[in-house]
Amino acid sequence: HAPAALVSRVPVREATVESVMAALMVTPPPPRSSQSPSPLWGGVGVGDRPRDAILAELEASGLRGMGGAGFPVARKWRTVAAQPGPRLVVVNADEGEPGTFKDRHFLDTAMDRVLDGALAAAWAIEAEAIYIYLRDEYPDLHDTLDAAIAALPPGTVPVHLRRGAGAYVCGEESALIESLEGKRGLPRQRPPYVAEVGLFGRPTLVNNVETLYWVSRILEDGAESFAKHGRNGQKGLRSYSVSGRVKIPGVKIAPNGVTITELIEEFCGGMEDGHHLAAYLPGGASGGFLPAHLQPPLAFGCIEEHGGFIGSAAVIVLSQADDLRAVALNLARFFAHESCGQCTPCRVGTARAAEILEQPHWDKPLLDDLSHVMRQASICGLGQAAPNVWQSLLRHFPEVTA
Ligand code: SF4
Repeated sequence: HAPAALVSRVPVREATVESVMAALMVTPPPPRSSQSPSPLWGGVGVGDRPRDAILAELEASGLRGMGGAGFPVARKWRTVAAQPGPRLVVVNADEGEPGTFKDRHFLDTAMDRVLDGALAAAWAIEAEAIYIYLRDEYPDLHDTLDAAIAALPPGTVPVHLRRGAGAYVCGEESALIESLEGKRGLPRQRPPYVAEVGLFGRPTLVNNVETLYWVSRILEDGAESFAKHGRNGQKGLRSYSVSGRVKIPGVKIAPNGVTITELIEEFCGGMEDGHHLAAYLPGGASGGFLPAHLQPPLAFGCIEEHGGFIGSAAVIVLSQADDLRAVALNLARFFAHESCGQCTPCRVGTARAAEILEQPHWDKPLLDDLSHVMRQASICGLGQAAPNVWQSLLRHFPEVTA
């Protein structure tokens, strides 16, 4: 099969199988549709490695969930494994954060590794089935995944592929599970957490596509091969989905913790001609705006003091030519549109905020009030994070919001 590790190291614009193979001067692999996942864990390899050893390796790597929350992977696996069976694994392939397109990249270039990671998870927590929830906007990946699942070795834990239907909130794990159960994708109140009562009422491990890709890499190459990377005090590797005013946008595999300037200059060919960095969104629509002079490590826990977060690392680069108020209004309307409407703070708050942001003068006290209630009382992350849009602009760009 394709050497996924090599493919993923090549900048995305060049990351065709043909270009990598040409560089290596080896025979190209068969077309993707006939490619079967490598049987690291799905075939004879299952059971060769003790479950405790797998968990210890992941723990040593420091790997955290790449879907946005950043929860330590090994701890999550141990939590689900400690629940009474039967247990299930869910693969979250519903990336919908504006600016995020890395899960598509990993499924496009390294689907075998993502499946390996999911099978390893199922083995480690003794799950009886895997459910993959794929966003319907990736129809070509649906066909490829279908073929890859069909090609899994006999005896592999059952893998079920399900399609999302376009709701942003279904990327939130409890809404995703509701949707998988055939219901409206409404986030659940917690506790109980899905690790205890998840899909069909069973303890459920939900992991993002990219997380499972790194699981496969770490289990094959060792924790140290992952943990030795990192920058500015952070550990590991991760993807950054970079869009906006850079010369070479795309999915960048970079050391965890690079700064925005390092990311742009070293991985994106610099800013577009005639543009200089004015602002950026480190975590898509949810992670807030940061001004160019603030350069925290782009990593979990490093952006919160500035009123934002890294999330799924959808880095949107803005220049002096961009209208920050217009961007904020666009994002506020996005949240108002995508609110599931289940709880009042979010349903009403996102709509009211969008109305205020349409005005020439923003009512700051009212926005502050709305933000406070939304953050305190919304059921899920959508309503809790939406205020980052306008609050970060009010905080860091007073000249724009006056
Ligand atoms: Fe729905 Fe918003 Fe409440 Fe989440 S916060 S449950 S999206 S209304």
